[in-house]
Amino acid sequence: MAQMRYTYNPDTCKYEPVVVSPKVAGRKILNFLGISFLIGLTGAFYFNYRFPLVDETLQAERNQKLKTEWRVLYKQLQRTSNQLSALEHNDDQNYRVILDLEPLDQSQREAGVGGRERESESIPYPIIRTAYEQAEKIKNRLDIEAQSLQQLMNELLKKEKMWASRPAIQPVSNKDLKHLHTIFGLRMHPLLGYVRPHNGLDFTAPQGSPVYATGDGKVSYAQYSTSYGNVVFINHGYDFETRYAHLTNFIVASGQFVKRGQVIGYVGNTGLSVSAHLHYEVLYKNSPINPINFFQRDLNNKEYEKLVEIGSQATSSLD
Ligand SMILES: [Zn+2]
Repeated sequence: MAQMRYTYNPDTCKYEPVVVSPKVAGRKILNFLGISFLIGLTGAFYFNYRFPLVDETLQAERNQKLKTEWRVLYKQLQRTSNQLSALEHNDDQNYRVILDLEPLDQSQREAGVGGRERESESIPYPIIRTAYEQAEKIKNRLDIEAQSLQQLMNELLKKEKMWASRPAIQPVSNKDLKHLHTIFGLRMHPLLGYVRPHNGLDFTAPQGSPVYATGDGKVSYAQYSTSYGNVVFINHGYDFETRYAHLTNFIVASGQFVKRGQVIGYVGNTGLSVSAHLHYEVLYKNSPINPINFFQRDLNNKEYEKLVEIGSQATSSLD
């Protein structure tokens, strides 16, 4: 049972019971509850700070681990970007130069990046957004580099075909260089008896010596003609043609594809010719040009100079 509280009343000179009004009682109760709530809340914050819950500890560890992993990932992205830069530099400064292609400028290499950057604006976390943008830039540059390498490959195949087609060897075996009788230019014709342009080279060789196609191409003519005798024309494409005249016989037919070094016939003395030899012509855009400049696969510089010297000595051609 609750004890009754008394207070001394000087007017009545008596101790009288204390009467507490409901309003005062209510205020006291509210004060008590308010103070209790504040004390409880302060205690909760303090204990939460000093002694975090197990879930929160795990979450913090996980966040730390994610941050570490992100740093590793970002460094890896930067390394990849640097490696790609080296590849791009090599492509622009070496591969494309060798194949006569213009280097790609930076704006071409970064074309299309802007659209992806706008996509990244919806990512709320700055560090993730930065990594995303970096990865997108690398992906875009890789796409452009892949296209560039494909272009290089196509160009290389085209050039390989062109280089294989270009006349580049001597049409007869001439290891000691002594088989060249005369070169391109004005020469006395041995049968007509006057000086006229000699539009090719004359190689002396025993009758029946093999005659080789000097580049890949398609036989466009293989017949007998009064002046050339048995003759083969090869169309090499890219405006180049070669002619092999005075053959004893040919072993290819018009329309046939031939490879460089393939035997197409044999040295002879047919047509307007005074002895067994091969008359060899190179034409560019249907005009004869000096074939001596088309032996790159056969001759070094010294051999070339010697061949010119040997071929300049004779004053008359053999046809
Ligand atoms: Zn000739």
